Amino acid sequence: MKAIRRFSVRPVFPEPLRPLGELARNFRWSWHPATRELFRSADPAGWEAAGGDPVRLLGAVSARRLEELAGDGEFLRRLDEAARDLRAYVDAPRWYQDVREERGEAGGLPAAVAYFSPEFGIAEALPQYSGGLGILAGDHLKAASDLGVPLIGVGLLYRRGYFRQSLSRDGWQLEHYPLLDPDEMPLEMLREHDGSPVQPVLTLPGGRSLRAHVWLARVGRVPLLLLDSDVEENAGGEREVTDRLYGGSSEHRLLQEMLLGVGGVRAVRAYCRLTGHPEPEVFHTNEGHAGFLGLERVRELTAAGRGFDAALETVRAGTLFTTHTPVPAGIDRFDRELVARHFGADGELPGVDGEEVLRLGAESYPGGDPTVFNMAVMGLRLAQRANGVSTLHGAVSREMFAGLWPGFDPAEVPVASVTNGVHAPTWVADDVPPDPARLDDAALWRLRRVLRERLVRDVRARLYASWRQRGAAHAELGWIDEVLDPDVLTVGFARRVPSYKRLTLMLHDRERFTRLLLDPERPVQLVVAGKAHPADDGGKRLIQELVRYADDPAVRHRIVFLPDHGMGMAQQLYPGCDVWLNNPLRPLEACGTSGMKAALNGGLNLSVRDGWWDEWYEPDFGWAVPTADGEAALDPERRDAIEAGALYELLERHVAPRFYDRAPAPGAPADGGGEPVPGRWIEMVRQTLDRLGPRVHADRMVREYVERLYVPAARAHRALDAVAAEESAAWKARVRAEWPRVAVDHVEQAGADGDALELGGALTLRVRVTLGALRPDEVEVQAVAGRVDEADALAWQDSVRVPLKPVGGPDLDGRWAYEGPLALDRTGPYGYTVRIVPAHRLLSGAAELGLVAGPSADATPPGRPD
Ligand SMILES: *Cc1c(COP(=O)(O)O)cnc(C)c1O
Repeated sequence: MKAIRRFSVRPVFPEPLRPLGELARNFRWSWHPATRELFRSADPAGWEAAGGDPVRLLGAVSARRLEELAGDGEFLRRLDEAARDLRAYVDAPRWYQDVREERGEAGGLPAAVAYFSPEFGIAEALPQYSGGLGILAGDHLKAASDLGVPLIGVGLLYRRGYFRQSLSRDGWQLEHYPLLDPDEMPLEMLREHDGSPVQPVLTLPGGRSLRAHVWLARVGRVPLLLLDSDVEENAGGEREVTDRLYGGSSEHRLLQEMLLGVGGVRAVRAYCRLTGHPEPEVFHTNEGHAGFLGLERVRELTAAGRGFDAALETVRAGTLFTTHTPVPAGIDRFDRELVARHFGADGELPGVDGEEVLRLGAESYPGGDPTVFNMAVMGLRLAQRANGVSTLHGAVSREMFAGLWPGFDPAEVPVASVTNGVHAPTWVADDVPPDPARLDDAALWRLRRVLRERLVRDVRARLYASWRQRGAAHAELGWIDEVLDPDVLTVGFARRVPSYKRLTLMLHDRERFTRLLLDPERPVQLVVAGKAHPADDGGKRLIQELVRYADDPAVRHRIVFLPDHGMGMAQQLYPGCDVWLNNPLRPLEACGTSGMKAALNGGLNLSVRDGWWDEWYEPDFGWAVPTADGEAALDPERRDAIEAGALYELLERHVAPRFYDRAPAPGAPADGGGEPVPGRWIEMVRQTLDRLGPRVHADRMVREYVERLYVPAARAHRALDAVAAEESAAWKARVRAEWPRVAVDHVEQAGADGDALELGGALTLRVRVTLGALRPDEVEVQAVAGRVDEADALAWQDSVRVPLKPVGGPDLDGRWAYEGPLALDRTGPYGYTVRIVPAHRLLSGAAELGLVAGPSADATPPGRPD
């Protein structure tokens, strides 16, 4: 029988148990073992059944049990302690407050930062993520909370989340979209003081409108606002806007992104108005999806009387854009017409000219597509600061977006990098003690065994459930009790399944791989998991290939594919695996974070040098899978063959031998008591925990964001009051208008005639430049000097930029003279050129405006003293 209406009944707690509700409604329980333990002890069986979700647990616990607990003195004492601990965590000053106090107002620490992301992975109980980006956003919020950084998270509430994955009998991915009920999740609706729901409204073409409710999730100290279009006043189509993550048509996605960006800013304003939370001074947008937030802020400012250009200046100053993909195909692009319709005369954002909007997202560079609206390009134009998520990804991003800064070397493109991190309290197993690197060999090895064994049990249970779901009878599944061995070298591979991550690389030479699994002395076992995007049949074929291989009775005790990869499974996998495998096509992994989570639990990495592993790989922490280069890199088949071969080679000759090379632990009794341990392996585990661990913490990442990006953005934003913003905008407009007339007209070198150029000597450069109507203090004239290659090209990394000094002018032709010494500080082929860039105290760097002028055709060619 089907119910005709559904609602949820919130439990009423006896008075002494009231704090349980408070604890359940703050996600801090998800990284606070003592609070979790408290919930578990309230009803151990119910806790299992609720999948470790306190709200579900409390919804199911019987009234009798609640009565019992209300009279249990010991339970009430622990409850009181947990509740006090949470309040202290939320209220007491932390790192950020200390730094703010110490540096004062002038320190520039923003009063608040709004952090936008299309997905957030906070806990399995809030399934609003598909993979790394969401988990990273969740970890960022949690680390910000731990550090006291006043962040407000902004996202969407997808009523059907991403999707739940299961397998058909023959290994094909099946997708389910269970409906989530916000009333059954740790969420509160944001309401006006009169109790009515806060309801941002967006105007859509054709007189339609899109309304949303705003749900508040408490992530420790950090509020996370999630917009939800499932509102009765919405028409049917509009109600479905936040139905699922990364699904639907292009128009559907555009509406999601308008709601996230435009609606998100309005939700933040409402939240600050209602709670007294300080207004954000910095807006941090992750990936292009939330980019419309900048337009809404421009609208706010123009409504308050600022001109469009000045408003744009102000918005840019306080915006940070983080890109998370190294491939153009990963960037969100819309049909220009579609965007034009939604931001046109009868669309959203009255007062902001639709043409201006379109210009912001135009791919106006060589090779750009004039018919599209590019969200990353808009993101970069609306943000004065931008970054990638690992050192390598920063470099790749600068190349990728170099077209927006013509005339500049890619190395000068203003995209920095902050390497991602992971939230240790979320990802380190409860069994791991505070300073595990200090355990002796035997104890460390025992710990690894405990973690591996726990994983083996978890894998068997999940595999059993999966096979039942695939239609197998209980009696057919006895073999599952023998799946995986808690003493065998265990390798993990779990992540989304886009093709570049190469889920099936390990199957490239099946015979060789099978031999590795079945080796009688040094066997290897694998746990594999991952979801393919529902529209990606290629990815689903890869999963099927892997599942079919793993279904084979000859190997099924050594390799498993677990369906429905999510945070809960991941939390078991990282600690239990000895080795974490990653074999993307370099450099397509922007950062990758799963290997970091493994490392925090003492897992060693076996990975292609991509993303974070490219910068932090050391032989003490694991192994680097060599990548094919030259010709071979261009042929995908050969490349896979070479890299798979290298992977097998490492496993056979290095990884497995080290794992199985056992000797009595130092200090073990001489009579042979105590288990022999792999000394060199354990040393690697220790090095990983001790030296790699601290680098991969999200704390380190969030501090870097604060110091390197949030503080400069807040300062820049504060500097732009109404007057300064108008000035800055007018100045930029004037510089742009004058720039075609700016040129280096004449260059001569003095002080070193002929071939008398020696190391330690100096040249004097005398330069004449035309600046149009600009003044010398509005530009910088620079000599760029350094090593040159055969084609006379100066490499940016190998060169210095020396400002020249104005020494006179303008002459009768309007030219200014500049002069300066150039020290000859290196031997070998050397060269220089002269260029002019705009200079202003409010610019973030020389390349910001994308304007540069070099020597005109008839200037004396730069000398090249060999
Ligand atoms: C960490 C994590 C990821 C990211 O994995 P990558 O190796 O960075 O691709 C994906 N899914 C889940 C559930 C995770 O915990």
